[in-house]
Amino acid sequence: MSAAVDRDVVVVGCGPAGCAAAVFAARDGLDVAVFDRGRSSLAQCAHLENYPGFPAGIDAGTLSELMREQTERAGCAVVEDLVESVERAAGDADDSDSPGDDPDGPQFVVTPQAGEPVTARRVIAATRYDGEYLRGLDDDDAMFEVHDHGGERHEHFDREYADRDGATPVDGLYVASPSDADRQAITAAGRGARVGKRVVADARIDDGWWREAAEGVDWVRREAELDDEWADRDRWVEWFDAEHADGPVAPDSERFARVREAAVDDLLAAYVDADEERTRAAAGHRALAEHLDPDAVVEAHGADALLDAMDDEAIAAYAGDGGPDAPQADGGSR
Ligand SMILES: Cc1cc2nc3c(=O)[nH]c(=O)nc-3n(C[C@H](O)[C@H](O)[C@H](O)COP(=O)(O)OP(=O)(O)OC[C@H]3O[C@@H](n4cnc5c(N)ncnc54)[C@H](O)[C@@H]3O)c2cc1C
Repeated sequence: MSAAVDRDVVVVGCGPAGCAAAVFAARDGLDVAVFDRGRSSLAQCAHLENYPGFPAGIDAGTLSELMREQTERAGCAVVEDLVESVERAAGDADDSDSPGDDPDGPQFVVTPQAGEPVTARRVIAATRYDGEYLRGLDDDDAMFEVHDHGGERHEHFDREYADRDGATPVDGLYVASPSDADRQAITAAGRGARVGKRVVADARIDDGWWREAAEGVDWVRREAELDDEWADRDRWVEWFDAEHADGPVAPDSERFARVREAAVDDLLAAYVDADEERTRAAAGHRALAEHLDPDAVVEAHGADALLDAMDDEAIAAYAGDGGPDAPQADGGSR
């Protein structure tokens, strides 16, 4: 079959686990689509008080909106649709372009309820409750556990089916959730991050990297940290050569040189100067503020501080143009 869109990675679910996995994968340049609809554990939380960074806690709706926006800003396509099945892409001996023929090409066909199927090289399941859409990718006995409850038979996706990094016996299939880590939102997010990193490393390995070189960190660093020695690209090249001299790839090979070039590019791209740091800080505050209730912002900062921060012309225009204190024809105000 031919599918409309092909992605490097499809993530099923944009809760804490799926958002983290998708953001890590997309930040390394992978083309990621995230499907999100259906039963959500996060949506059932009355108020999260144990998620770091929110001193008075955060309501599940706002956290969900923030996570979805972060996923989109990282470059993912977020699709509001329920995934109904993930199947292996079928190879076709008569058609070398058919999905499934190329080991580095699409391995899965992801079929949602409403939209068109999508093919992907990798799939990350990140759904706390539902693993049914994965049925058929491996033996049921391996993927599902059966429990008897009061004489009734219940089947659940096996939380230990995937390893600690989410990798499974099915090449290209990863499970961020359900897992034993997803009983709190922050541990689910941590698990998702580990899985995202594993997917990045595996994609690099497909591209000729070796495991020790492929496993990096996703950091943004201050350029001011770079002293004269490390501001010089050749110093990083020297460091890479020393680090991987005894690795699995010959240091004088074309492959080693290609990976070294890409790895050093990545390392240097992590540094930002002071202006860029300020720009990103301001963008971060703005993106957060967009999700805050204006009344809460006024209460937190006080009206004077907000008026001070506003442009005088905007205040004058608001007052003269229908603001609450704008003078009325009868001499009163609204
Ligand atoms: C009543 C209750 C209260 C809780 N309180 C807290 C708390 O105070 N603090 C805390 O840390 N944790 C709390 N938790 C736990 C927390 O909600 C979970 O640990 C966390 O949300 C798990 O994240 P997840 O990403 O694995 O799954 P989810 O949060 O369930 O996210 C999965 C996402 O996938 C989507 N989805 C599902 N199926 C499909 C499909 N087939 N196709 C496409 N999308 C799909 C869903 O819509 C959802 O957005 C609570 C849970 C419950 C039930």
